Amino acid sequence: MSRTVREREDVGRMEFLLTLRRRGISDAGVLRAMDEVPRERFVEEGQADIAYADQALPIACGQTISQPYVVAYMTELLALRPHHRVLEVGTGSGYQAAVLSRLARKVVTIERYRTLAEQARARFRALGYDNIDVVVGDGFAGVAEQAPYDRIMVTAAAESVPQALLDQLAEDGIMVLPLGPHDGPQRIVRLTKSQTGLAREELIAVRFVPLLPGVAREL
Ligand code: SAH
Repeated sequence: MSRTVREREDVGRMEFLLTLRRRGISDAGVLRAMDEVPRERFVEEGQADIAYADQALPIACGQTISQPYVVAYMTELLALRPHHRVLEVGTGSGYQAAVLSRLARKVVTIERYRTLAEQARARFRALGYDNIDVVVGDGFAGVAEQAPYDRIMVTAAAESVPQALLDQLAEDGIMVLPLGPHDGPQRIVRLTKSQTGLAREELIAVRFVPLLPGVAREL
């Protein structure tokens, strides 16, 4: 008997969580947030049937929505608490910001493409996620007006840590970002700020689109 689209989706979502667990995601809050946010609402039209496969997918403006495992992994590294204020650089589809918004008090997310920012805003509104601010701007500069942030996540790869983001990170804050050359090996790095300085951990190998300077001139 053939399965309905709905049944296929349910099986897909069950496997989705199992895959995350199998790959080592163990934080119950992160798993709950990944379960709660409907990824099919953040992918391009016609791709809903593969929304729960563990892969990155193309979105508008030549960008990508990250692989679910990497979203869960980076979220887990932030060790979010319900009172936290979070800055995300690289809104893209809005999916990562949506996951963060389920675990923190407030999420500010910045995107250099107006089109992507507007689409993400519409998705948040439709889902009733009202603790996310979408800003169009250059993430290299962060969003100083709303700083400091307890947590910062960058979802595009830079060669080095943008100084403005370090400045906007609160004391005892954690920043997670992919670092490395655009076409070469990148790693997720976690920085923890304390009175005595900055602790740095180099973690898994990844592949992200580049963090590019300035607001996009195209839409
Ligand atoms: N977090 C996204 C993944 C987006 S891919 C999601 O969940 O879908 C990375 C995004 O970073 C792209 O949309 C790209 O346009 C954006 N980006 C790249 N450089 C930027 C910059 N300097 N400031 C803001 N956004 C930037």
